[in-house]
Formats: sequence, C-alpha cells, structure tokens
Amino acid sequence: QAKKRGRNGYFWFEPAMETELRFRNELEGAIRRGIALDEFVPYYEQQIDLRTGELVGFEMLARWNSPEYGLVNPDVFIPVAEENELISELSESLIRKALNDAKDWDPRLTLSVNISPVQMRNPLFAQQLLHLLVETGFPPSRFEIEITETSLHENLASVRTITTSLKNQGIKISLDDFGTGYASLAQLRNLPFDRLKIDRSFVAELTNDEKGAELVEAIVSLGQGLNLPITAEGIETAEALEALKSLGQFKGQGYLYGRPEDASTTKERLARTGLSKSVAGTETTGQA
Ligand code: C2E
Ligand code: MG
Ligand code: MG
Ligand code: MG
Repeated sequence: QAKKRGRNGYFWFEPAMETELRFRNELEGAIRRGIALDEFVPYYEQQIDLRTGELVGFEMLARWNSPEYGLVNPDVFIPVAEENELISELSESLIRKALNDAKDWDPRLTLSVNISPVQMRNPLFAQQLLHLLVETGFPPSRFEIEITETSLHENLASVRTITTSLKNQGIKISLDDFGTGYASLAQLRNLPFDRLKIDRSFVAELTNDEKGAELVEAIVSLGQGLNLPITAEGIETAEALEALKSLGQFKGQGYLYGRPEDASTTKERLARTGLSKSVAGTETTGQA
C-alpha cells in the first residue's frame, strides 16, 4: 500500500503519496461514473490451435472507453474496481456483453473470460454466472473461465465450491498466468482444472537462452503429468511459435496473431474468414 509506518509508529504521507491518493480517489469516481454511463467494453483476443493455425476461440479482455482518459487497459481499473466492490457489477456487465457478442460467432468458437480473486470469494458467484448463461442462451460447453493462482491462496474453499459447480454445468476452468503464483501440485490435482495457461513472461524467455527453454519444457511436462492441456500466452514472434510447436501440441495466443479487437472488428474478422454464425449457416447449434 501507499502507506508507510513512521519512526514512532504513526502513518504519514509524503507529498507524492498524497497526490497518488488523490489520483486514486479521482480514478475511483471516474470508474463509478464510467460504469453508470456504460463506458466499459469487451475486447477479444484470438486463441489459436498452434498445430493447425486454426482459430478456436477468443479471450475477452476488458477495456475502458473513457472520454477523459482514452482507451484504458485493465491493469489500471481492475485493481481499483477490486478494492471498491465494483468488480462484480463491472464483470457482470462485461460478461453479458461478451456472451451476446459471442452468440453471433461460429458455434465451434469458445469464449473465455477472466475472473477476479474477489469474485471467487463469493460463494454465490457460480449461480450468478450460470444465470447469465441462461439469460443470454449461450451454451456452457463453449464457455471458459480463467482464474489466477492468487485466487487459490486467498480462498481455496470457495474456489473449490465454485469451480466444481461450474464444471458440473460443462463450463471449462483454466489456470491463468501459470508459474507466476503459488499453486501447489496438490491444488492443481485436486481442483477441477481443464487447462493451464503458461504466463507470457515464460514464453518471452523461451527463445532467449537455454534456461528459458528449459523452464518452459518443465512447465509443459508438469502439465502433461497432470493431464492438463496447455495454452501459451504472449506469442510475439514466429521463432517463439516454432519453439513451442517443437515442445508439443498447444493452444496459443499473442500479438503474432493479432492484438485484442473490439466487438465489431472481431465480427468483421469472422465474416471475412467464414466464421460468423450466419455465414457458417448453422443457426441451430445442436449443443445440449
Ligand atoms: P491476462 O488474462 O493474462 O491477459 C493477457 C494479457 O496479455 C492481455 O493484456 C493481452 O492484451 C496481453 N497480451 C496478449 N498477447 C500479448 C503479446 O503477444 N505480448 C504482450 N506483451 N502482451 C500480450 P490486457 O488486456 O492489458 O489485460 C491484462 C490483465 O487484466 C489480464 O491478463 C487479466 O488478468 C486482466 N483482465 C482483463 N480483463 C479482465 C476482466 O474482465 N476481469 C478481470 N478480473 N480481469 C481482467
Ligand atoms: Mg487471461
Ligand atoms: Mg494470462
Ligand atoms: Mg497476465
């Protein structure tokens, strides 16, 4: 936190901290207004089957279209929303938009969303999420959530309850940013994960030197040992892609395939490649 304990135990603020605090309060107010004015929008990053090069789905990434600050990345507003109990409301509205967008996509494509550790503390979260799927009519079998290792050490009991009931409904669970946190092997084994996402910091090191490659290899064999398929995030170069393909069959995502794009750009992309729902001519999905 921005607080420091002074010599005699009192809290004190440096001028810079005061400025930071004022900015944070301002930001919090702006985020509240932004939620009320519906300024938060889903962007979509392509997820690819690295072996075939085929598009298999999208990860939804939140953006704030702020008239004041421009297009803002989640690293700025998610932590503030988490501290002020705004995250649930914000996430619900983003997921609802994403589910409605994804209904126009080819029924083979999946939608993946990030869930905050704060949301994973709420035992009612599973019901709320399932309700959104019913409300929008989106098939659970095409829906995935991504949780981080932080969720596991903060609230393992409710994580277990939530992931178990979501899994029972056919929703897939990924462990995001894998390798950057503190998940134990026991937790990996005992929670109903479907997939590990290797953090992009490891993928970035992959082609740097021997050590970087060995680390990714170790993570890959861990995933294989646990019977968990792997997604590599942050693939930026053809070199990294080749290195990954030589290690196994993964899904992947990253700037090599494209930046996250808004709903209408995503829709155009799908229309161009024949992966819109209407173009594919599959109005009835036949999904249970
Ligand atoms: P994440 O889930 O690990 O998402 C991947 C991040 O890496 C995204 O940043 C994405 O734009 C970026 N990225 C993708 N490919 C590359 C690449 O090749 N190189 C580099 N350098 N970066 C790449 P973004 O969109 O800024 O999101 C940051 C984080 O914010 C996400 O990390 C996720 O933890 C969180 N986040 C995003 N949307 C939501 C949301 O709706 N709810 C919650 N709770 N968290 C969210
Ligand atoms: Mg993610
Ligand atoms: Mg990640
Ligand atoms: Mg990340």
